Amino acid sequence: MKLYQPSYYEQFQCLAGACPDSCCQEWDVQVDEVAAARYLALSGPLGEDLRQKLKQEDGEYYLQIVERRCPMWRSDGLCRIQAELGEGALCTVCREFPRLRHDYGDFVELGLELSCPEAARLIFSTAPAPWVEREMPGDEPAGYDRLDMEILLRTRKKALDILEQYSFADAMALLLLYGYRAQAELDGGEAEPWEPQGELALARRAAIPGDWALLRKFYAELEILTPRWEKLLEAAPSHSAFPEKLLRMVRCNIERYWLQAISDLDLVGRVKMILAAALLVGHLGGDPVVTAQLYSKEIDNSIDNVETILDAAYTHPALTDRHLLGLITTLY
Ligand code: SF4
Repeated sequence: MKLYQPSYYEQFQCLAGACPDSCCQEWDVQVDEVAAARYLALSGPLGEDLRQKLKQEDGEYYLQIVERRCPMWRSDGLCRIQAELGEGALCTVCREFPRLRHDYGDFVELGLELSCPEAARLIFSTAPAPWVEREMPGDEPAGYDRLDMEILLRTRKKALDILEQYSFADAMALLLLYGYRAQAELDGGEAEPWEPQGELALARRAAIPGDWALLRKFYAELEILTPRWEKLLEAAPSHSAFPEKLLRMVRCNIERYWLQAISDLDLVGRVKMILAAALLVGHLGGDPVVTAQLYSKEIDNSIDNVETILDAAYTHPALTDRHLLGLITTLY
């Protein structure tokens, strides 16, 4: 079985106590059954503490945050379970975060979560490079339709090429229109010739005035985790910035989400989610690495938010094609 990973994947090292926005804060930690059983059977003060703090609801175990922090987080920023029992005692979520694993049966893709500050730093600071390919033991059958996957792999490569060849604004417009080309193929159509200059002219003609407040309002109505994010969305920012390196965020999200369309064949919804994310992060301004990390913590780590955006991609006025193109047009 083949395994593919981004060039920076192996460089990741958790910042632990030095992390500026630890994953041990702001969300409840889901604890798998094996780890929960071990925690509940543990002797000594740590076991007693864990038995008090481990909650169970609908058959699932979790550690509920207290004052916005995991209850096992020590004042020095380290995890008490890891410090006393070693990394092997962590529950699966804590051991694996921020590593992503997308298993398609006969091949696997790995990645890093943009919501982790150190992963975000790597994603933004690494120049685009071919993924590392490795051979893994095991040979599972493909868990997908081969023709659909061939289309998704081919069109993802083309989408990533677009990021390399155009300025931020042009790349964003082209990506939206190319998403429709790829979707048409997924829907059974023939591959049409792709003429970027004609597509850019079409994008300018189709654009309606972009309303950034409408985009902010859309995100403000989603499930919000942190007061920082809520505050950022509240007011019109004074320092919007769309540096070319925002395309690294777009790249990382294309790599993460494009193939996931194999599950429901909705590629356009995902393309819009990827574009709207980069537009919002640029609009909110600040250090793009920090703003993108915060965005990802709020959106990528919430299945509910991702599903809401995918649904809204076809219905919400902030996410219509013409409005997204309008927002992009303001960047020229
Ligand atoms: S967010 Fe990333 S760097 Fe920070 S504590 Fe978690 S895994 Fe480590």
